[in-house]
Amino acid sequence: MTRLPACPLCGGPRLPDHPGGLVIRHRQRCRHGLAELARQAADADEARTRVGPWLRPATWTERNLLESVGVQLSAEPMVEVLYLTPSVRRRTFTDARGEVVDLDADASPEAEVNR
Ligand SMILES: [Zn+2]
Repeated sequence: MTRLPACPLCGGPRLPDHPGGLVIRHRQRCRHGLAELARQAADADEARTRVGPWLRPATWTERNLLESVGVQLSAEPMVEVLYLTPSVRRRTFTDARGEVVDLDADASPEAEVNR
């Protein structure tokens, strides 16, 4: 749906085409980065009790990162979490229309045509 080039708070770059999807290299002490680290630790704990993907509510930071690039989420967005490997967590978000958010797609249909 749209590209997320960087964190709106610290300007840290998103790693494009990363299998984890929403993966940003936050600058030191970025509030989003600290929140993401805490969520990652909580997800890693949860993964030890799970087999396969699970759903949880999106965090405020996840919502803010996506909404900063124009992704419209539902009122109570959920995130699908899946560990591809023991260290690679993939989060899948769906927008308010129920479509999967593709952070690596170009922002507009015109960009696709003009390649
Ligand atoms: Zn940041």
